[in-house]
Amino acid sequence: MDNTPLIDPFARPIDYLRVSVTDRCDFRCTYCMAEHMQFLPKKELLTLEELDRLCSTFIRLGVKKLRITGGEPLVRRDIMTFFRSISRHLETGDLRELTLTTNGSQLAKFADDLAALGMKRINVSLDTLDADKFAKITRWGRLEQVLKGLEAAKRAGLKVKINTVALKGFNEDELFTLIDWCAAEGFDLTFIEVMPMGEMGDDLRLDQYWPLSDVRRAMAERFTLTDLAESTGGPARYVRLEESGQKIGFITPLTHNFCENCNRVRVTCTGELFMCLGQEDNADLRAPLRANEDDAALEAAIREAISRKPKGHDFDYSRQTVSGQMSRHMSHTGG
Ligand code: SAM
Repeated sequence: MDNTPLIDPFARPIDYLRVSVTDRCDFRCTYCMAEHMQFLPKKELLTLEELDRLCSTFIRLGVKKLRITGGEPLVRRDIMTFFRSISRHLETGDLRELTLTTNGSQLAKFADDLAALGMKRINVSLDTLDADKFAKITRWGRLEQVLKGLEAAKRAGLKVKINTVALKGFNEDELFTLIDWCAAEGFDLTFIEVMPMGEMGDDLRLDQYWPLSDVRRAMAERFTLTDLAESTGGPARYVRLEESGQKIGFITPLTHNFCENCNRVRVTCTGELFMCLGQEDNADLRAPLRANEDDAALEAAIREAISRKPKGHDFDYSRQTVSGQMSRHMSHTGG
């Protein structure tokens, strides 16, 4: 067995994997999904066992950070079986971090179990603290349920980062409310620039586009911002608000200033490996998983794909192909 770690053609070690475990979600955020989604038939999805084999193979090949996402990962049936099983790699130290991006709706149910199996931090997506606006943007969500989930996460000792999509004319007026609320709750906060996807018409897309440079400018009216040099190798840049000491992140998926140190790849719930957020090139990992009981063919497919990882990407906001790709596995950002 060749355990040589994955290194891409630009000498970047690939140690961060994001895996989408379902395409389903209990919310229908307007910028993300159509209200009446056609979801994939079950046989298309990797089973929990296949997900375990896939993630374990990546971990053997040097992945140290595993982020589970979706759809909404916590609505996948028996997902805790997967989490419990994969957490064995935390115990051995082969995996440094197991984490989750969630809409928070199921956290009241699962936060304790997640903390008990070794999860330390989670990202929770939340765009507004106004119950009516929340119902509007998520179509099916209830703010109260998410707030209860967040309470449970806090009680369980999970460190929470809130991810907020910056939407012009929607949560512009809540900028400081969100910042203050996160400070009071002890949550980190990251803003995400909205990407062209979901079922928005083009007009609405452009209408809702609130560039993070403008968010930053608005923030600077009340706070002194200091740029932080630290980078997770991902698309987030951080500032410190000197008055409150808070660290605020900015994720601008449409710019490519984060490609240079890119250490991450993504796998969709059907087992497609994407080597780059902005490019369609992918590798099918489901076929080698299903055709073989051992993981040699899977490993070969992963290595071959990593050898094709591009140096970087460049988005054109009007590029329609982005939308198709992103709605299947919008996991690169929200981190
Ligand atoms: N259901 C989980 C959640 O809500 O965090 C995980 C999947 S969700 C697709 C991951 C992140 O993508 C969320 O923070 C969501 O707000 C963000 N997202 C979805 N559509 C987006 C878009 N068009 N532009 C920017 N971020 C988007």
